[in-house]
Amino acid sequence: MVALRGRCPRCGQGKLFDGLLALRPRCPVCDLDFRGADAGDGAPVGVMFVLGPILVILAFWMEFRFDPPIWVYAVVLIGVSLPVAVLLIRLIKASLLGIQYRYRASEMER
Ligand SMILES: [Zn+2]
Repeated sequence: MVALRGRCPRCGQGKLFDGLLALRPRCPVCDLDFRGADAGDGAPVGVMFVLGPILVILAFWMEFRFDPPIWVYAVVLIGVSLPVAVLLIRLIKASLLGIQYRYRASEMER
């Protein structure tokens, strides 16, 4: 699946992302326009719904298993949530764009 690799849904070659999270305006290989399909706030909402409960469960587990000092929570929870959030946002953004491309949800050309 091209979304897992962050590639263009039409050619499967061009990279979707410019840097860590920013979507490119067009595909550098086949020139497909990505701007019409930007999911906006869709990706962060998905990440919140997935990551939120995981972090809460992790916090409870740490509390009852190890009872660590408070700074351990900050280090572990931020250390876990930041990379996972970035990864999930990339994955969800790429998936939403691919879905929009396939089902023509927007005025994206083919
Ligand atoms: Zn392309």
